[in-house]
Amino acid sequence: MTGRPPSVDHLANQLAGSGLPHRLLVGVARSAIAGAKASGEPYSALDRARVEVAAIRRRLLQPVINATGVLLHTNLGRAPVSVVRDAGYTNLEFDLSSGVRGSRFAHAAELIAMVTGAEAAIVVNNGAAAILLALTALAAGREVIVSRGELIEIGGGFRIPEILTSSGANMVEVGTTNRTRLDDYTKALTERTALILKVHTSNYQIIGFAETTRIGDLAQLDVPVVADLGSGLLDAGCPWLDGGPPTWLRDEPAVRQTILAGASVVTFSGDKLLGGPQAGVVVGRADLIERCRSHPLARALRPGGLILEILQDVALAYLRRDAGQTLPVWRMATAPLADLQCRAENVGIGEVVECFSTMGGGTLPGVPIPSAGIAMKGDITEALRAASPPVVARVSEGRTICDMRTVLPEQDLQLANALVQ
Ligand SMILES: *Cc1c(COP(=O)(O)O)cnc(C)c1O
Repeated sequence: MTGRPPSVDHLANQLAGSGLPHRLLVGVARSAIAGAKASGEPYSALDRARVEVAAIRRRLLQPVINATGVLLHTNLGRAPVSVVRDAGYTNLEFDLSSGVRGSRFAHAAELIAMVTGAEAAIVVNNGAAAILLALTALAAGREVIVSRGELIEIGGGFRIPEILTSSGANMVEVGTTNRTRLDDYTKALTERTALILKVHTSNYQIIGFAETTRIGDLAQLDVPVVADLGSGLLDAGCPWLDGGPPTWLRDEPAVRQTILAGASVVTFSGDKLLGGPQAGVVVGRADLIERCRSHPLARALRPGGLILEILQDVALAYLRRDAGQTLPVWRMATAPLADLQCRAENVGIGEVVECFSTMGGGTLPGVPIPSAGIAMKGDITEALRAASPPVVARVSEGRTICDMRTVLPEQDLQLANALVQ
């Protein structure tokens, strides 16, 4: 006997169909009974418990259908990746040739370096960690020159001045918000200068009287240039896309070209335009990457084997040049409008409308990608979120819009079911 009133167990058993562990359901049952007692409605305990069970289930991490049209939706996990894997060991840090300890950076990191034309690479947990590691390992106790036009907040409170402070480097601001010239950097150079930081202002634009300095010009100066690109577009030529780079990608800086222009180090995220799992990548000159790798912080920021496995698959897709078909983010981003319209019609409910998708994730701000959607009368987003799997859509001018571009074709039937309900 556990000493709890039998009605708690009885109620918990009534909820067993939810699939939640019995211990969780007992907690739900107990508070539902207490709540019902306090409210004076004797029959409401089961209803209360059902509401709470539904709330718990919705809090669990689970697949959702992204019908928002935002391809790299940070709230929805950014780039969609597939994970198919049985339990088992890997050679994560074991060299199968020599039979001795190997490096976890010998797999995905080396392949990514190859795609970008960089000498070496290291992978960490996210883009912010990549910048933090590069700055700490290469500039702690010394000076980092950065343009006032690039002292940005990227999101989630991640601010360049603050990350510079936490790296232990001293920030030397040059230029103005809208204009920074080569001369501004040259004048700031001292023997204490460790590097020049160039940050891609990926989530905002300065339009009008603006001027920035090109990486190629900065590379002429006698200190390493570290470029934070954010998005992880590996090559501006997009050799993995049959039709070459789409027009909406025109202004996005790419890793390979930034290295070619003379940057010593480039940092970027794994889950933006790269199309992989959450990760951060530092690529560049072998001696500088080695300093990052051997810094104690690298150990604290290292990703797990699962992430490195997925990232390796992503790198191989780029090397095979079939990333345009095999990585969902590229497949979705380049899906022809006619295909999306056709799929929207096949869903067979609501009105097929033109709409615009966006890249999201702080990349390509304001660049619209023409798309097709399904419009439903009124705001039905709450009901769609309650569907299984949940559908996340947006509301525009009193209608709910499901953008087909971010829905995987294999989810069309599930979307249709959610809309019918
Ligand atoms: C997104 C972004 C980051 C941060 O990357 P996370 O992977 O989100 O940590 C840093 N710099 C730039 C320019 C970015 O766009």
